[in-house]
Amino acid sequence: MKAYRLAGWTQGGHYVEVQQPKPGAGEVLIRVGGAGICHSDLHILHEWSPEVMPALQEIEPDFTLGHENAGWIETVGAGVQGWDLGQAVVVSPVWSCGHCAACRAGDDAYCEKSAGLSGGLGRDGGLASHMVAPARALVAIEGLEPSEAAPLTDAGLTSYHAVKRSLDVLTPDAAALVIGVGGLGHMAVAYLRELTGGKIIAVDRNKAARQLASDLGADLVLPSDENTADPVREATKGPGVRAVFDFVGIDATLQLSAAVVRKRGKVTIVGLGGGTFPFRYGALPHAATMGYTLGGSLSDLAEVVALAESGRVRPRVRHFSFDQIEQAYQALHDGKIEGRAVIVPE
Ligand code: NAD
Ligand code: ZN
Ligand code: ZN
Repeated sequence: MKAYRLAGWTQGGHYVEVQQPKPGAGEVLIRVGGAGICHSDLHILHEWSPEVMPALQEIEPDFTLGHENAGWIETVGAGVQGWDLGQAVVVSPVWSCGHCAACRAGDDAYCEKSAGLSGGLGRDGGLASHMVAPARALVAIEGLEPSEAAPLTDAGLTSYHAVKRSLDVLTPDAAALVIGVGGLGHMAVAYLRELTGGKIIAVDRNKAARQLASDLGADLVLPSDENTADPVREATKGPGVRAVFDFVGIDATLQLSAAVVRKRGKVTIVGLGGGTFPFRYGALPHAATMGYTLGGSLSDLAEVVALAESGRVRPRVRHFSFDQIEQAYQALHDGKIEGRAVIVPE
């Protein structure tokens, strides 16, 4: 089969002919129906290397990209029970052990045994006709096309997980701020609209992204510059927002987050922009916290799927064919994708 693989750290990607994989014990073979294109792929393709990230030393940089996958079960490996051939599924991008303390607590996004590798993130992913995944990482989908559902697994899951862990502070009288309304951020706006009653403020440097945020129910949309903190605070009549979701993660957006978060608020950094923020007592208003998240749990993914199946929150998707992968990455890089680009194999 043809696959789109990383050519080497910072070397970009290329199409190669590879053997179709076979599922081992506990694994399934999936015929890929859709593979979303995530901004993390741009970091992986062009920026990351073991020199800047020592954790990458353990990973061979020739894996198939695509960590946002959906498709149909084609065959199952030894010991896999409870799944029918032909069943449509989404594949979590977080592969976990199932028996460490975090997994037992249902917090498998933070599995203590997993090395953090999964399909498209160190192992072979979905930019191919087929991929292998652990049966444990699957969630069944009903009434959703894999080519529409693929973004639920990362753009949906990661933003939902971030929003969910701030729901305790997002009372109807409190505002939330979303920075970066791309693949993940547009889903965050939609989840906030669905799950909370407060004001939603969205910031993006791109006009089309701001329009998308408005369409999805943001109450106020703002461009991104050094003065953005003022209108955000004015919109809250002074105190600032109770929750910030930073899907960019550069110095400027971390500073904006810190400048607008309110006492007892939560700043969640999701974007891998590599920015830094000097933290010390008094760096944020009293009892405000700043943290970062990775993906989400399997139960989060089941909830994301339920919201999509009922039609309440679905991703905005633009399809590309398998031979247009490089065009899709270029369009994402150039800020020309509204919502999420999804590759549909032949
Ligand atoms: P995207 O390219 O689809 O969206 C990014 C959006 O941010 C775009 O709309 C862009 O216009 C906007 N933007 C860029 N710079 C900005 C700035 N300075 N101010 C305001 N807006 C700005 O990207 P995506 O796929 O949604 O991913 C977003 C980030 O999240 C990436 O860094 C990605 O690597 C990261 N990510 C993290 C996780 C995780 O688990 N932590 C998972 C997936 C993606
Ligand atoms: Zn991703
Ligand atoms: Zn675990």
